[in-house]
Amino acid sequence: MNIDFNKDNGLVPVVIQDNRTLQVLMLGYMNEEAFEKTKKEKTVTFFSRSKNRLWTKGEESGNFLRVESIDIDCDQDTLLIKVIPTNVVCHTGSFSCFGEKDSKGFLYELEEKIAQRIDNKTKDSYTYSLYQRGMNKMAQKVGEEAVELVIEAKDDNDLLFKNEAADLLYHLLILLKAKGFTLKDIEEILLNRDK
Ligand code: AMP
Ligand code: ZN
Ligand code: ZN
Ligand code: ZN
Repeated sequence: MNIDFNKDNGLVPVVIQDNRTLQVLMLGYMNEEAFEKTKKEKTVTFFSRSKNRLWTKGEESGNFLRVESIDIDCDQDTLLIKVIPTNVVCHTGSFSCFGEKDSKGFLYELEEKIAQRIDNKTKDSYTYSLYQRGMNKMAQKVGEEAVELVIEAKDDNDLLFKNEAADLLYHLLILLKAKGFTLKDIEEILLNRDK
């Protein structure tokens, strides 16, 4: 990666994005040393313009940014780093420096949580116990929730309708995981149909 550090006193801006939800979390700056440290430790270290030194995000708060991927823009003067934050990112206590957590993209987080419950064989987990009952049962649950949604669609109770839609999505995610597919696989099908 050939980064152009010469445009702005040895610094490049770095956009920090949540790897799960793609929400933009913050913006910081790196010099070459900060970049090398970040790459080596897989935890984000900026060059802080106010502290005038290397600043490992989380050094006081413990809220580190674990690096998942690093990309560079078209003219090599801006970085995009996707991370898993260990906690809130902003020093004001909000999830992102640009506001609170966005529910867009939450399905990916939920997908990950479901996968963890199944892969870790989490005791007392509804998800894992349904998984253990096998493919037919999981598929049948999707059918049941779909029927419940159909029933609520005929009614005009918004809250019940929304809850059945949530049940359906949740069970669909479990079924996808059990079949070895991800939301992304399904999105790709939809994307290719979008014409
Ligand atoms: P931290 O790196 O989270 O331990 O925070 C150390 C100090 O860096 C805080 O006291 C703030 O002054 C500053 N700081 C932390 N997080 C941010 C942020 N997201 N944006 C700007 N400044 C921050
Ligand atoms: Zn650029
Ligand atoms: Zn902030
Ligand atoms: Zn239901």
